[in-house]
Amino acid sequence: MDTRQQRLRIAVQKSGRLTDESLDLLRRCGLKFNRGKDQLMCYGENMPLDVLFVRDDDIPDLVQEDVCDLGIVGLNVIEEKRLAMAARGAPPRFELLQRLDFGRCRLSLAVPDEFEYAGVDSIAGKRIATTYPHVLGRFLRERSIAAEVVTLSGAVEIAPRLGRADLICDLVSTGSTLIANHLREVEVVLESQAALVRTPIALPDEKADWVRRLLMRIDGVQQVKESKYI
Ligand code: ATP
Ligand code: ZN
Repeated sequence: MDTRQQRLRIAVQKSGRLTDESLDLLRRCGLKFNRGKDQLMCYGENMPLDVLFVRDDDIPDLVQEDVCDLGIVGLNVIEEKRLAMAARGAPPRFELLQRLDFGRCRLSLAVPDEFEYAGVDSIAGKRIATTYPHVLGRFLRERSIAAEVVTLSGAVEIAPRLGRADLICDLVSTGSTLIANHLREVEVVLESQAALVRTPIALPDEKADWVRRLLMRIDGVQQVKESKYI
């Protein structure tokens, strides 16, 4: 049997807001590995678990395509992917295993300082810039609001100043980026945090056992963290 059959592979963000806490979680679960600079993959030294470093947006597909058995990614990315696939009539092929207690943020509507906002109906007929067209589309549909969704691949917060949109729908944690761009948060569209996803494909017994063990350890780590805060 080739080793790929026996070792679990988990996709983690290569470099970004989720990277340190994802690796910290795996270390607290007991995994020992050495991460060299710019390394795409790390081999677990004391567990049959290897870490693949990728862009966060690629994680749902890597799990769906069975390149990785597990992945750590934000619910915002998971939900956008799920809705995008549903819109194409394809059911998503990844499962949400567990929410993790980091990477908290929210996908929110934010308007320029001078925008007169008097409730969600104020955005009817406006242009909304976002990198989350499906999650935003659902929000608008649920409220029967007709607005134009302007899909961008980044730099959403400057779209109103460039005249490309009237308001934005973007990720917010502290709100400092919004303030710096003369925007104010008016509505939460989606609450997000990091989560562990897995392939729905049945795993060989030994791998399935390791997934169970990992989940139990994650539970333990999160409980210890919680009790520290109390
Ligand atoms: P990549 O190069 O991997 O595509 P990125 O620029 O898409 O990186 P980051 O900005 O590092 O990603 O954000 C990764 C994830 O961190 C987000 O998808 C989200 O789940 C979470 N996150 C937490 N707080 C914030 C925030 N204030 N802004 C953006 N993302 C946040
Ligand atoms: Zn990304």
